[in-house]
Amino acid sequence: MPDRGIHSPLECSDTFLDAAMDRLELAPAMRQLLRGPYREVMVELPLVRDDGELRVYSGYRVQHDNARGPFKGGLRFHPSVDMDHFRALAAVMTWKTAVADIPFGGAKGGIDCDPHELTKAELETLTKRFTEKMDEVIGPNRDIPAPDVGTGAPQMAWIFDAYAVRHGYEPGVVTGKPIQLGGSLGRTEATGRGVSMVTAWACEEEGLELEGASVAIQGFGNVGSHAARFLAGLGARVVAVSDVHGGLYREEGLDVDALFEARARDRDQPIAEAGAPGEPLANDELLTLDVDILIPAAIEGVLHGGNAGEVRAAMVVEAANLPSTCEAHALLVGRHVTVIPDIVANAGGVIVSYLEWVQNRERMRWDVERVNGDLERILGRAWREVSSRAREEGVDYRLAAYDLAVSRVREAIELRGF
Ligand code: NAD
Repeated sequence: MPDRGIHSPLECSDTFLDAAMDRLELAPAMRQLLRGPYREVMVELPLVRDDGELRVYSGYRVQHDNARGPFKGGLRFHPSVDMDHFRALAAVMTWKTAVADIPFGGAKGGIDCDPHELTKAELETLTKRFTEKMDEVIGPNRDIPAPDVGTGAPQMAWIFDAYAVRHGYEPGVVTGKPIQLGGSLGRTEATGRGVSMVTAWACEEEGLELEGASVAIQGFGNVGSHAARFLAGLGARVVAVSDVHGGLYREEGLDVDALFEARARDRDQPIAEAGAPGEPLANDELLTLDVDILIPAAIEGVLHGGNAGEVRAAMVVEAANLPSTCEAHALLVGRHVTVIPDIVANAGGVIVSYLEWVQNRERMRWDVERVNGDLERILGRAWREVSSRAREEGVDYRLAAYDLAVSRVREAIELRGF
């Protein structure tokens, strides 16, 4: 994890929220309601490892707001997570579902484990234990987890199974499930697909030609790898990608399909060693490359006060959650770099999660064309609302998006009463 300094993810998400609340001139009590979480749960998770060692992990769930619908947000398995981390990410989910105008609130949670050092059986036990202990606060009408960093379809399947023990068949308790268990076609690639759509719309709005534009993507996981593939499909030149081990650079454009296939074969192999042509590149260097579009698609806080002044891209599309600290955001916007905020740029994932949840409620499976069509319709509407607000009010895209989201959540709170 990068040095979070004084600008931790929570301080940054609060700063972004404060700017919108100031503009909307909200009363102190409403500000308090919008800022703080509705509920926070922490559970102890003892696990006897396969070698007999007893380890105790911590499981977290922060439910930020549910005025507009059930809490919704991913589960992250990573050794350095803590409650503050999830407080920030849960709030981001509230604003994201509100910008997308889908009937959910915001939550986030996870376990402070390193999934790479656990066996499949250990991970299954840990995930099921987590579900048993969170049983009363999650559910298809309460709080619906989904994959995030370090989790994917297998963890969602285990949650679905553990939840069914007490509640019966309830596939809508999680999204991002395997297709065979009620997952939606198009969900795996939805976030990356959405990132590419928003990038294309933003380029059009800003007068930047996407065809032939150079793109650097930090993080070649679920989001980054799919975004790379879709953007290459739209004619962009993906010149750099990276993972936690480092990156790969090629001026004339990387062979994205070869890199994508290499990742599909072996997720743990460093992307720079996948055998595709290109030169090795450090993660920090990727962020300050002379490219048209920079897409941070890994973790929080990678753009900060120490490097945002050196970013040479004309546009930053935030595929990760909170990849720019508040200091970085101010520096980038001050230098007229176009920043497309996370709550719009990566909303494609939660939108298709919503479509999965609807299919689960209907006990139906839609074809992928319908899913992708609805994704484009819902995300397109969100983009148009944010971009027209930015244009009309003369504010940056992040402030416009927060403004829209906060207005919607505040209205729902007031309509429901106290
Ligand atoms: P993932 O675990 O599939 O991939 C993460 C990638 O980032 C991997 O390539 C990893 O090697 C790389 N990485 C990790 N630490 C890094 C570091 N310090 N420097 C450079 N690269 C690093 O995760 P994901 O699902 O692709 O999520 C990536 C980001 O997108 C996260 O911020 C997540 O919250 C956000 N997001 C994910 C989804 C989704 O549907 N998966 C939806 C919305 C937002």
